[in-house]
Amino acid sequence: MTATAPITQDVLTLPRKAPEGLLNLVGLTRDAMRDALIAAGTPEKQAKMRVGQIWQWIYHWGVRDFAEMTNLAKDYRALLADKFTIALPEVVTKQVSEDGTRKYLVRIAGGHEVEVVYIPEEDRGTLCISSQVGCTLTCSFCHTGTQKLVRNLTAAEVIGQVMLARDDLNEWPVPGAPKDETRLLSNIVLMGMGEPLYNFENVRDAMKIAMDPEGLSLSRRRITLSTSGVVPEIARTANEIGCMLAISFHATTDEVRDKLVPINKRWNIAELLDALRDYPKVSNSERITFEYVMLDGVNDSDEDARRLVKLIDGIPAKINLIPFNEWPGAPYKRSSNNRIRAFADIIYKAGYASPIRTPRGEDIMAACGQLKSATERARKSKAEIAAETGL
Ligand code: SAH
Ligand code: SF4
Repeated sequence: MTATAPITQDVLTLPRKAPEGLLNLVGLTRDAMRDALIAAGTPEKQAKMRVGQIWQWIYHWGVRDFAEMTNLAKDYRALLADKFTIALPEVVTKQVSEDGTRKYLVRIAGGHEVEVVYIPEEDRGTLCISSQVGCTLTCSFCHTGTQKLVRNLTAAEVIGQVMLARDDLNEWPVPGAPKDETRLLSNIVLMGMGEPLYNFENVRDAMKIAMDPEGLSLSRRRITLSTSGVVPEIARTANEIGCMLAISFHATTDEVRDKLVPINKRWNIAELLDALRDYPKVSNSERITFEYVMLDGVNDSDEDARRLVKLIDGIPAKINLIPFNEWPGAPYKRSSNNRIRAFADIIYKAGYASPIRTPRGEDIMAACGQLKSATERARKSKAEIAAETGL
């Protein structure tokens, strides 16, 4: 933890809410956009070409105003503006950690809020996005799981998080400028709030947009979806998305996993591992990441480490050890550094990469599993400010 105050910046709310009656083109699949354009009066023969043009404006150039789509006829641009909008969720606040991590509090329709975290590293920049407001699952170590309110994000709200981060990083290409291959936002992880596989269609459609070569054009190997283990949707993820997969594993016996990740009572460790065996082949991805949160005295013994490598035997895997990020009232403690190192050592000796995840953005409560408390804190400080200023 650091004593330096984080930089908090209120981002002025841009007028991005979809005006009544206009259909938001963001988040539509190519087919859905085609249908919408035809319904709005685009001749069927032209529809595919128009989708290609509009798609590039929105997802390659980052354009939000139909008037700027200069390869379309003026009256067609006017028709589009009359029927459609290009709308993103609103950024309410942005915080920048002293380690460069940025956290955005984002408001979606209905006044709900989710958090998006950007983590810059030497060789990449990763955006951690949310798939739901809250989460219906109740993993006992996760603060998001204690949040009551839950709603699935739309595909527009999922891909919108990527687009608003690109806005903030000022990373849309500039026409005529030399192509710069080093991207600030190079990777996406679905590790924010929510269980992405309980919102499968919207997450799939949004990630298809992220991977589309005519737009944001992120490689499927640079997108990682993290799930607590929704077994029936794992094969679908391989077939219909094909991104990298991370599993919130966290325990080596059903008894402990039942307590930590209650979805285990529905699909236990054996069923989960069975579903995972085919994933790398079907999705053509190299390895599955097993996430393992280190909880003092709960799941962090040498015996656990040995059981873990035995369980995943035969699955191409990387084990990501996550030091538990504490939150107010959390029923667990983070394992000591020595314990985490001893655990990592056993895994490493068994032949697995076992990076220990460094918590990022701790000073702005942006680390894994802390996202709910961050929002609450933001609210509280606003209330405090109101009390102080008498407003
Ligand atoms: N719902 C999905 C994705 C979001 S959670 C899932 O569970 O996989 C992203 C990762 O952070 C998961 O591995 C989750 O188990 C972990 N996590 C949750 N709370 C945490 C905490 N307090 N400290 C460390 N990791 C946590
Ligand atoms: Fe939901 Fe994932 Fe948190 Fe479990 S760890 S409560 S699945 S967000």
